[in-house]
Amino acid sequence: MEIIRTVAELKAKLDEARTRGTIGLVPTMGALHAGHLSLIERARRENDTVVVSVFVNPTQFNNPTDLATYPRTEEADAALLENAGVDYAFMPSVEEVYPEPDNRQFDLGPVAEVMEGAMRPGHFNGVAQVVSKLFRFTEPTRAYFGEKDFQQIAVIRKMAQLEGFNNLEIVDCPIKREADGLAMSSRNVRLTPEQRSIAPAISLVLKASLVKARELSLADTKKWVIDTINAFPYMNVEYYEIVDAATMQPIGEWSDSATPVGCITVFCGDVRLIDNIKYILK
Ligand code: AMP
Repeated sequence: MEIIRTVAELKAKLDEARTRGTIGLVPTMGALHAGHLSLIERARRENDTVVVSVFVNPTQFNNPTDLATYPRTEEADAALLENAGVDYAFMPSVEEVYPEPDNRQFDLGPVAEVMEGAMRPGHFNGVAQVVSKLFRFTEPTRAYFGEKDFQQIAVIRKMAQLEGFNNLEIVDCPIKREADGLAMSSRNVRLTPEQRSIAPAISLVLKASLVKARELSLADTKKWVIDTINAFPYMNVEYYEIVDAATMQPIGEWSDSATPVGCITVFCGDVRLIDNIKYILK
């Protein structure tokens, strides 16, 4: 594996690799865990060359403390990537990715206006900025994203459409969980041991809501999820929305969508955790 720091070097290596076959890109912000690894393994299976980017993108953080406290574990990340059979680890500086300020405003539309878009102003525009740059730098055949960030995938698809990335396949990958159900996340290391023992309640309650949904209205299911999670110590639900998987728009009744997805964010202490669940009602 080669660690690459500059865009020029990355482009040169990949121009050569492209003549030999397909390129799979896995964008990450590092502090890598088995969730990331599941995307990387899939990329490895499906492509001739695998590039993983590790870049904590400042433009997608609307909260300076979140950016400052985001875990950075570059050496461990490089070792994990090497072990996973990655060809190129792209680990650029902020100046390399943003030699000048990126003032682009993406017209992402309704998929970016709700949930994370409403709670974290500018977040998805920052995601669109960095992912569009990564797509240009690497020109991948396929790019891999985790369904943990369910809304993010819809936003990236919209960005790809706006920017004309028509020959690039965006691959959704399922959420990887700890044995107790907690969705793997780089932020989990910030939980105290006590909070860590309570955090799996999020996924357990979401799972239990699949059964509730058979008898309760959508509004009552939402309320049940929020109240049940909030009853745990440290837990504070920021939002729970049940949306259509394609449009990301909240639905009012179960019959309003063939693919309802419940998307949640919960503060466990001061750590913001995210998860989601697909409701299959028939
Ligand atoms: P991040 O480093 O948090 O920006 O995540 C990089 C990519 O890994 C994103 O596409 C995430 O959705 C994905 N990812 C993070 N955690 C998980 C997980 N537990 N399961 C599946 N994908 C994940």
